[in-house]
Amino acid sequence: MRTSHVLIPTLREDPGEAETVSHKLMLRAGLIRKVAAGIYTYLPLGLRVIRKVEQIIREEMNRAGAQELLMPIASPAELWQETGRWSFYGKELLRFKDRHEREFCLGPTHEEVITDLFRREVRSYRQMPLNFYQIQTKFRDEIRPRFGLMRGREFIMKDAYSFDQDEAGARLSYQKMYDAYHRIFTRCGLTFRAVEADTGLIGGSSSHEFMVLADTGENTIVYSDGGTYAANIEQAEVFPPTEVDAEPPRPLRTVQTPGCRTVEEVTKFLNTSSAHLVKTLLYSTGGNTVAVLVRGDHEANEVKIQRLLRINGLELATPTVVAQVTGAPVGFAGPIGLKDVRIIADHAIKAMRNVVVGANQIDTHYVDANWDRDFHVEQFADLRSACAGDPSPKRDGILRMAKGIEVGHVFMLGTKYSETMKATFLDLHGKECLAVMGCYGIGVGRTAASAIEQNHDPKGIIWPFPIAPFHVHLLPLTQSTQTAKVTAQLYDDLQTAGLEVLWDDRDERAGVKFNDADLMGAPFQVAIGDKSLAEGVVEIKTRKDGKKVKLPPAQVVGHLTEARPS
Ligand code: ATP
Ligand code: MG
Repeated sequence: MRTSHVLIPTLREDPGEAETVSHKLMLRAGLIRKVAAGIYTYLPLGLRVIRKVEQIIREEMNRAGAQELLMPIASPAELWQETGRWSFYGKELLRFKDRHEREFCLGPTHEEVITDLFRREVRSYRQMPLNFYQIQTKFRDEIRPRFGLMRGREFIMKDAYSFDQDEAGARLSYQKMYDAYHRIFTRCGLTFRAVEADTGLIGGSSSHEFMVLADTGENTIVYSDGGTYAANIEQAEVFPPTEVDAEPPRPLRTVQTPGCRTVEEVTKFLNTSSAHLVKTLLYSTGGNTVAVLVRGDHEANEVKIQRLLRINGLELATPTVVAQVTGAPVGFAGPIGLKDVRIIADHAIKAMRNVVVGANQIDTHYVDANWDRDFHVEQFADLRSACAGDPSPKRDGILRMAKGIEVGHVFMLGTKYSETMKATFLDLHGKECLAVMGCYGIGVGRTAASAIEQNHDPKGIIWPFPIAPFHVHLLPLTQSTQTAKVTAQLYDDLQTAGLEVLWDDRDERAGVKFNDADLMGAPFQVAIGDKSLAEGVVEIKTRKDGKKVKLPPAQVVGHLTEARPS
């Protein structure tokens, strides 16, 4: 393709709206443009990358035995009402009415629609197992769309849904997807890790997230230094402490802590450490308030709290609720004398003695409080997030932390949807059984953006060959007839050899062309100029390592077909 025939609006400066490297570079290299918050146009170069990621996904899904179909973006409310998700999903679900006042939503995911298809069309175990996938635009009205394609509102997802006769079959389908995901992300040139993830109320290790390791990742993952364990921080199990603080209990006292609300302010004022303070977090859930106690230096884990309470949906109580429940402003809540509130605590609390807690009174805390004497805990459980240094749940050393971007998710659904939607089939004995399901997603745009996060330098993108918009960037440096002739010949020959070529045919200075080529990140650049042609050569640069070689034009095709990764 010639640059003059394609819209590639490169930018010299970093756009102010972008925070992450991939977002900046996607804008600067002319891959995407914003239309509204979280909504983008894929420009020609960006679309080429998207299509390549899709093709890799398609090939591996087909290879794993999944079949492609395409479901509608608009889905009727009735299907969502059947599963209860019409009310459950909240504001992320974009709802609208058609001209007949019938309610619809833009699909954020497609369990309902595919389960409906299955129950209408599949009768017998003979037709199973089945795995359907689509590559399609999703809409989620994300509260905070950001980082370009990383967290859009409208984005392209590959979603797949498997239907099996039984649990064992479902596990096999799950494993096939797990393996396919490994191949997909490897082929996309990513460094990633599959980590155990939260399964909500389903339980078991039947959910894995595929995390691309990158500092800009929104997820925190933990992994054991022994190498056998990796999990999302929301999921990682924390063992109860093995040792209890041996201090004898001291009498309970109240102390004035004027203006001290945060853990840091209180412990500094009282000259103690955050490991001696118990945080009392008040959460609202479906009209009730729950108090969760965690050690001052620990993070409460909302996923674990929800799992323990068997609820979905948890919010920190508003200042009004806090005032109602504790009689004090935010910052002074504590478990002593707290009425009509369920109190649950992290295991670590049980091992603490003589702690600091809020006194439910402005500017006041208790010191030397002890749970078995001064307040009642209904249940102790694992309610905090793992930290670096915690023992590995697999007992192979300690945990370390890293940041990750979730590019894919494989999830065992069990019979959650087949039960509510009555998706059944007749088994070998003619008995009606519920299909056992799994679902599997990959963010296509997020995968492309992650590839940039992991492959760039200060000059721009360094595309992994398999998803590069072009393989070779031809850069004629002068406007002479000879340069034009050699460039045109190379353009033809390289394409004949199966390489995708972008020909910078603009009348621009050499420096501008080199800068743009580095920014756009094609794996190879070929510079053709009068000076080197006088010596009978052109110059080939590998974008990744910056290495340059000079070769006669006739040898370029051979060199590049050999240098391209297979
Ligand atoms: P997240 O926790 O990042 O919101 P999710 O758990 O909601 O992700 P899934 O419902 O499992 O995501 O969707 C499958 C895949 O779709 C994710 O692994 C991710 O790659 C992609 N994805 C999800 N939300 C977005 C989004 N807002 N923008 C771009 N890609 C997304
Ligand atoms: Mg989400």
